[in-house]
Amino acid sequence: MADQEEIILNGAALCDGIAIGSGHFLKPIEDTVPEIKIRTSDAETEIERYRSALESSREELLGLQHYMAREGGDEAAGIIDTHIQMLEDPIITQVEDRIRNQLQNTETVFRSVINEYEDQFSKITDTYFQQRLVDVRDLSQRIMWHLRARHKKELDALPKNSILLSDEIVPSDAAEALRSGAMGFVTHLGGATSHTALIAKSKGVPFVADIDLQSYIEDGPFTMVVDGFDGKVILHPTKETLTKYQALQKTLQSQVKKAQESAHLPSDTIDGLKINVMANIECIEDMTQIAASGAAGIGLFRSEYLFLQEESAMSEERQSKVYKRILEIAGDLPVTFRLFDVGGDKDFCPTFVPQANPALGCRAIRFLLQRPEIFRIQARALLRASSGFNLRILLPLVSDIDELKQATLLIQIEQERLRKKGVGLPLKLSIGAMMEVPSAIVMSDLMAKECDFFSIGTNDLTQYALATDRSDPRSNFEPAHPSILRMIHRTSQAADSHHIPISLCGDMAADPKFTPLLIGLGVRTLSCPPRYIPAIKEAVRSTTLTDAQDLAKKAMACPTYKDVQSLL
Ligand code: PEP
Ligand code: MG
Repeated sequence: MADQEEIILNGAALCDGIAIGSGHFLKPIEDTVPEIKIRTSDAETEIERYRSALESSREELLGLQHYMAREGGDEAAGIIDTHIQMLEDPIITQVEDRIRNQLQNTETVFRSVINEYEDQFSKITDTYFQQRLVDVRDLSQRIMWHLRARHKKELDALPKNSILLSDEIVPSDAAEALRSGAMGFVTHLGGATSHTALIAKSKGVPFVADIDLQSYIEDGPFTMVVDGFDGKVILHPTKETLTKYQALQKTLQSQVKKAQESAHLPSDTIDGLKINVMANIECIEDMTQIAASGAAGIGLFRSEYLFLQEESAMSEERQSKVYKRILEIAGDLPVTFRLFDVGGDKDFCPTFVPQANPALGCRAIRFLLQRPEIFRIQARALLRASSGFNLRILLPLVSDIDELKQATLLIQIEQERLRKKGVGLPLKLSIGAMMEVPSAIVMSDLMAKECDFFSIGTNDLTQYALATDRSDPRSNFEPAHPSILRMIHRTSQAADSHHIPISLCGDMAADPKFTPLLIGLGVRTLSCPPRYIPAIKEAVRSTTLTDAQDLAKKAMACPTYKDVQSLL
């Protein structure tokens, strides 16, 4: 900005807090492959990137093959062997020459080679060629994933105190940026319960969306303020503005300290009903906050975030170590491990197949049932890690009873196999269902017979029930909509009549405004990011069950969300 005048932009507040730092623009994510012309002198670097993506793919395939062979999956091991051999195929190896000749980035060249191959072979109906086409697609997705993973390493170089600005920040970029020390996010796209917003909330990073930054893009870093309370972004703040926000930061720090002091007070309602307030965590590092947060356990471990720390699918041993460590740190506190919920806006699993409509496609439990080798490795890792502990496994995005039964059976088979081998097993295994698809809620009376506990995911439930995009800041995303409240109530009644526990781990659990309402609807465990726990416990202590039930009854009778809002 030539004149360096203060500029105030108004957007949507996705995560509260104040950040003061230097703004850095992140180039748009390459959902579609960016076509970049390269210089002759850059060709060898691009080729090097391609080779290391091939090498990572090979390592991953060898690991998978090893696992399959050990498990007696000879047929699957054979298919994987074909993929390993295909890494030497001219289709794959010609990319290097084409990079030199076309002088374009690796992704563009690679994609064009695969497209040509698909065009050629999709017309041939012979089953051999059709199968080969499937193999090429599968392998190319694996390679492309590794290319993207390397591309993201650019975020590693982000200076400390940065505020990341971008059209959209995907969860993997957010995690990478936070590791580099980013202190705030500003985007055009992104909703309050998008996974990037959830990451920001769990780490306490102010996030403002719905800001069109196009006209403000600058080369160098510049000072800016992110006001995650009012949804404001201030570029080139004046001295007065800076002083005002610095003072606000100090006040916030002392508020956090005060909240922490009350973190270990009980979480009983005035009339003595105990509510468990637990923590949602995304990685092992989050466990460091558990003791101070006053959490009664881990209500949700989003295990898919492990993929953000690894460039390849994690081996059984690696996973098992992480799970064991979490259980050890938790000690006597219960831990609920959710199986990989990949898909939707969490497209960061290697070999994940991009889809036209990801939120409605092969996501979570569907993905796992289609990729039993990934499912089984995770189940075994959890079972092994839990020797001497209770193991709680949560199945994501269950939409019908068949899925629940199939997944349960797979876990039980793995448990039996381990038992036969004499491996130490969990003291008790409980399998629960995420209740976040309307079809599951409607069937909750029958679902309750098939599992050991329910956990309501209001983020997805709201998205699917109201047909509203959780990643869009302008969508009509209202988790306290009367229809959602009725669904929560229905699910808690089903859980009650089948004597299974029920918790709620969507973002709604982090907002004290909703705490009495949720208690009144029958929820007895709330799970939210650790930093919100003291405030939620305080909200529990400030209500009675009778008042909460009265409020819930009135809210469910409201015709619209606006009416619920005025009740609250
Ligand atoms: C939810 O959908 O409410 C939930 C807790 O899961 P996630 O946000 O990870 O999809
Ligand atoms: Mg969900």
